Amino acid sequence: VHRDFLFDLEVPAGEQRTFYLRAASAGPVDLNLAIYGPHALVASVSGEQLAYGAYYGGFIVLVLYNFFIFLIVRDRAFVFYLLYAASYGLYFAIHNGLAFQFLWPDSPAWGNQSLLVMLSLSLVFGMQFTRAFLDTAAFAPRLDAFARITQWLAVLGLLASFIAPYALIILPVAILTVIVTTLIIVLGSIGLIKGYRPARFFMIAWGMLLTGVMIYMLKVFGVLPHNTFTQNAFQAGSLLEMVLLSLALASRVRELQRQSRTDTLTRIPNRRAFDEVAAIEFERSRRGGVMALLVIDIDHFKRFNDEYGHARGDEVLKQVAEKLVNGVRQGDHVCRFGGEEFALVLPASNGEEAERVAGSLRKLVQETSSADAPITISVGVASTRDGSFVSVDDLFRAADSALYRAKHEGRNRVVRYAP
Ligand code: GH3
Ligand code: MG
Ligand code: MG
Repeated sequence: VHRDFLFDLEVPAGEQRTFYLRAASAGPVDLNLAIYGPHALVASVSGEQLAYGAYYGGFIVLVLYNFFIFLIVRDRAFVFYLLYAASYGLYFAIHNGLAFQFLWPDSPAWGNQSLLVMLSLSLVFGMQFTRAFLDTAAFAPRLDAFARITQWLAVLGLLASFIAPYALIILPVAILTVIVTTLIIVLGSIGLIKGYRPARFFMIAWGMLLTGVMIYMLKVFGVLPHNTFTQNAFQAGSLLEMVLLSLALASRVRELQRQSRTDTLTRIPNRRAFDEVAAIEFERSRRGGVMALLVIDIDHFKRFNDEYGHARGDEVLKQVAEKLVNGVRQGDHVCRFGGEEFALVLPASNGEEAERVAGSLRKLVQETSSADAPITISVGVASTRDGSFVSVDDLFRAADSALYRAKHEGRNRVVRYAP
């Protein structure tokens, strides 16, 4: 059994024979004729099967691998990736004749239709994956709406394949494929321009596929020679695309993790990040080291909001965050603890050093705030040498109580914790 049609031809040695072959199809016919001796046929088939095994093995591993990662991270984008990879892989299996050989050898009618069904499905899921991966609804709502329309058109093509003949549908679906691919590239480029990191892998992945398509096309038009590489460039490009999209998903998981630890307004680490880094540094300081915490609160910020408006207040929060980040040393951690409060972790700093840093930050904020809307901060300082602290929460409470005193003593000042 072979995926192509094999005919046993008897040609006695030294003689000539003429054979006639009749082929009929509703669509374009791509006939590739070859004559093999029995040994050459076996050699060619085993080489081919090895290549197909590697190719489809790659698809299956990618699908399984990303399925397991989905079970852990539960990101929707993985589901659409799986559906896209599965429908795209099946599309190629049909194209190569393997689906007909192994999956549905007894249904030639479905064999014809399935190509359209899988192509339409891979358009639907490829686009759905792109929309989820890049979060296009948030940054390009109009193009996203257009993308949804192309998906419905693909569904329409799928349904039409059940009633209309192949020849009638293949052209519109082929045009839709070009539109969908172009749209995906445009959306990816916008993501790239907006600085969304995972979009880089996404674009390289699609670049691989398009490079494969280009090589194949150049072969079809006779610019490049016909050989195993050019003939299979399209298909090889599709596997590379899937591998790189899987990398893109990993990059997206990293990005989501980073986002969950970043404050959306000021773009500095948030409280969750503070809790993590403070706990780590506290443990490190217990091994004969030292560390300090700074708790910073903007003075009379409610009044500032009332006077200048909430939007101006948000601006100030951003500016203060930036000043704090620029005002500390490399290796210190500045986080937005919540509201108008910031918390700083100063690894390997004793109380005196921390007090000096706090003083210069207080000065920096006061001197660089605009004259018509002055801003000051109060700072509470505590280092692990300022008392006997059993936990990082303990140390934080000490710094917070120092801040409370700074507020009571008149604000715009630094107070260091004393037991
Ligand atoms: P104090 O000097 O005692 O700290 O006075 P305060 O008014 O700053 O203190 P309080 O904690 O009572 O008020 C904090 C105010 O910060 C309340 C709220 O209006 C403002 N605030 C908190 N988060 C934000 C924010 O994200 N944006 C803006 N614009 N204001 C915020
Ligand atoms: Mg406050
Ligand atoms: Mg305040």
